Amino acid sequence: MEKVRSILKIKSNHSLIIGSSFIKPYRKEVIFAMLALLFTAGITLSIGQGVRLMIDDGFATQSVKLLERSIIFFFILVAALSIGTFARYYWVSWVGERVVTDIRKRVFDHLINLSPGFFETNRGLEIQSRMTVDTTLLQSVIGSSVSIALRNMIMLIGGIIWLFITNAKLTGIVMSAVPLVVAPIIFFGRHVRGLSRQSQDRIADVGSYVGEVLGNIKTVQAYNHQEQDKVKFAGVAEEAFDVAKHRIKHRAWLIAVVILLVLGAIGFMLWVGGTDVIEGKISGGELAAFVFYSIIVGSAIGSVSEVIGELQRAAGAMERIVELLESKSSIVSPVEMIKFLPVKLVKGSIELKSVNFSYPLRIEVKAIDDLSLYVKGGETLALVGSSGAGKSTLFDLMLRFFDPQSGKISIDGIDVRDLDLKDLRRCFALVSQQPALFYGTVKDNISYGKPEASMDELIAVAKAAHAHEFISKLPDGYQSRLGDGGIGLSGGQKQRLAIARALLIDAPILLLDEATSALDAESEFLIQEALEKLMENKTTIVIAHRLATVMNADRIAVINEGKLMAIGRHEELIETNEIYTRFAKLQFGSSV
Ligand code: ADP
Ligand code: MG
Repeated sequence: MEKVRSILKIKSNHSLIIGSSFIKPYRKEVIFAMLALLFTAGITLSIGQGVRLMIDDGFATQSVKLLERSIIFFFILVAALSIGTFARYYWVSWVGERVVTDIRKRVFDHLINLSPGFFETNRGLEIQSRMTVDTTLLQSVIGSSVSIALRNMIMLIGGIIWLFITNAKLTGIVMSAVPLVVAPIIFFGRHVRGLSRQSQDRIADVGSYVGEVLGNIKTVQAYNHQEQDKVKFAGVAEEAFDVAKHRIKHRAWLIAVVILLVLGAIGFMLWVGGTDVIEGKISGGELAAFVFYSIIVGSAIGSVSEVIGELQRAAGAMERIVELLESKSSIVSPVEMIKFLPVKLVKGSIELKSVNFSYPLRIEVKAIDDLSLYVKGGETLALVGSSGAGKSTLFDLMLRFFDPQSGKISIDGIDVRDLDLKDLRRCFALVSQQPALFYGTVKDNISYGKPEASMDELIAVAKAAHAHEFISKLPDGYQSRLGDGGIGLSGGQKQRLAIARALLIDAPILLLDEATSALDAESEFLIQEALEKLMENKTTIVIAHRLATVMNADRIAVINEGKLMAIGRHEELIETNEIYTRFAKLQFGSSV
């Protein structure tokens, strides 16, 4: 138990240290914020004195002159408070926003370099929530809760001191009454806050449900699923209402209790104090100041106890963020850059030597099983095999999205693990099975890997990928926006953009993963022709599903259950390899 506790403590201290390292660069701003904080707390406390002067010197003496003077004093305090509050709010919030922006940037910079395996073992949604929810929580804490806590601590201490100075006897009464008033308020307040968090979660459920259904509206309507969805949605919405109902009832109670207790306590104090005023023991101004300070002390206690919960939650959020920041990528460039591979000189030969690989989430299944393969520089190799055979996995391994559990992959004779990741990936142009388009224009999407490319270059690759024609027909041509809020494209059009993007970077090795699967036979034939010219001096590995592509390849590799079954030309394989013959019959409808 002791051990666990000390580990926990070390952990939270650790995240505290990391957290404070984010604040360090803004020391100057933090000091501004602190000064403003002290200043406003001091002013707020002095306002009690202003009230006392106004009443005692103004009203009690019936002298207009004195009243004017104390009113002027009061206004000076108010003006100072307003200026101070401006500075406090501005600097405190500034620091909060600034620090959270830095944290967000740092987390993103870290995440984007993590290997794909990390995102398989950690749910993408959870990471997103850490990015947004946890950082937003931190922002509200750094930007306001900390300031509320500090301000109220100062006010609490200052208020108590003033109370004693003003009237020790009344202070005794107040001090014993404070817990009676504040405790139930804190108790109810906690409960209400917990409920409101719950009701926010429920609302998030409603939101994600709507997003899912509306995002797949065609499937929903095609299957006449609306009725079920209505029932399901009603359930989610009603659940949110039930939580909200619970919350508002408690909230209503809270308000009632606050009014009863606080005003009741003030009334009691006025009674005791008022008697003293009548008996001439204290002045009216003193009593007013006294009420003022008691309210300040009471609300300070309330606020501090309220934000303590926030601070705890923020510590939790910081811990989760630090965890994310410290997650290590399993795929990293070698520390001592052993080998250097200038992309211009790459011949593009690839060798796999008894490679074994299982995906992190399915460690018991061998996705690649003792596979050896040599692809000459400049060769075109077609990979064929049924779905799930391990073809795409081979690409993942070549690009080092994952490392094999055993065996070796080399490019031009250099082990890929000895290369800088950037150098390695510069060797490849990948068109993946699901063409990924990003938010932005057609031009942005094609020039993704080479943003500096000229318009002529873009048009040339778009023509080769047979994309130019349809792009020209888009409302804004190459400047048309894609994705969310932009235009949609057909599967074949997306593939052609993805091919154009791959051609543009002019890498020595081209990897095509069923890159033309959504195209009609004619477009595929045209692209094939264009590619042939572009592929002349490049190594090309193409995962093929059509006879035409396979026939064009120098060699064909037959993959089945992660193993290389056979390799050779179409005519050879048809004669010698049973799996290939069967595959060719089914897939290509080939009678050969
Ligand atoms: P294909 O030859 O159709 O491209 P893949 O290389 O995509 O096949 O998949 C090979 C095997 O690995 C399949 O059994 C598939 O289910 C499995 N697999 C693919 N991706 C993953 C993953 N990210 N996690 C776990 N298993 C995977
Ligand atoms: Mg695949």
